[in-house]
Amino acid sequence: MMDKKDITEKLEPLYDKKVECLLCGQEFVTKKIRSRFIKPRKVDSDFGQIFEQDDNSPLFYYVMVCPHCGFSFTEDFSKIMAQNVRKKTLEEISGKMDHSKDFCGERDYQMAVRTFKLAIYFAQLIKEKHVVLARICHRLAWIYRGAGIAEEEMRFMNLACTEYEQSFLYTDFNPELTPEIQILYLIGELNRRLGKYNEAVKYFSTVSEHPDKSRYMKYVNMARNQWSEAVQEYRESKNKQQIQPNVKSE
Ligand SMILES: [Zn+2]
Repeated sequence: MMDKKDITEKLEPLYDKKVECLLCGQEFVTKKIRSRFIKPRKVDSDFGQIFEQDDNSPLFYYVMVCPHCGFSFTEDFSKIMAQNVRKKTLEEISGKMDHSKDFCGERDYQMAVRTFKLAIYFAQLIKEKHVVLARICHRLAWIYRGAGIAEEEMRFMNLACTEYEQSFLYTDFNPELTPEIQILYLIGELNRRLGKYNEAVKYFSTVSEHPDKSRYMKYVNMARNQWSEAVQEYRESKNKQQIQPNVKSE
């Protein structure tokens, strides 16, 4: 039987999740958002769920920050850390932890951005897989997109794109969870959003010729749409360049 406490708890958007720190091994409790409260304003062509700054965004809780040692990580981080990496990381962060900040409770936009930057720092420090770093940078770009901060969005899309490219080159993603064709589509789409149309078209064409294309028609169709979009945007940008000198001379 459900008592009153259960019902009230179920209505709260945030719930507590017990996590074990991958670096120091100590347990802590952090917040996550219940799926029924996740209502993005839109889902973009790079799969970005876009929320406004004051929405209940699951992105705000994507990174977990250990209150004991400060290590910041996501569910994608490798569960096992080599002893020498653990030792080096603990030495590196010793004494640097800012105990005045508590990232285990409710987070606002500013705090969320801070947790992403911490996760990027740690992912680079322990040499996490490129795909893990790509996902962190890509999600931070979505947060900035939701907040309308285009410059920072572009900066982190660029980083995400480079990391996805590296991930593809070294095949450091799990093809069971993330099909290669999805990574290729994302590289194409991020290049398009960055205005690198030649690169975008190159990757979209790889998607449409991929050996697994019949299994993943969704990505093939999306690549075709975004390919035409890229060609149109490229033409528009060329036209603009041609029109501009005339405008100036008037
Ligand atoms: Zn820890």
